[in-house]
Amino acid sequence: MTYDQWKLSNSIDDGYGYDLVSNCCGASLDETEERCNECGEGCAAIEDYEYEEIQKENYLEDRSDAQRKYDE
Ligand SMILES: [Zn+2]
Repeated sequence: MTYDQWKLSNSIDDGYGYDLVSNCCGASLDETEERCNECGEGCAAIEDYEYEEIQKENYLEDRSDAQRKYDE
């Protein structure tokens, strides 16, 4: 694969592996100020795959909470 082909197939990838996103919205952020560009709140920078893990855990937690309520 030539560099051009690689570059085209990785147009979003900056070559460092993962993008940093805000932990509140999973959006882009000002990394120096740790401020979310989506909601404007202060946030922590996390890697995008970490944000997806958190979202998945929240979803599973919500679902098991709902399940428990249903069983009561
Ligand atoms: Zn936010």
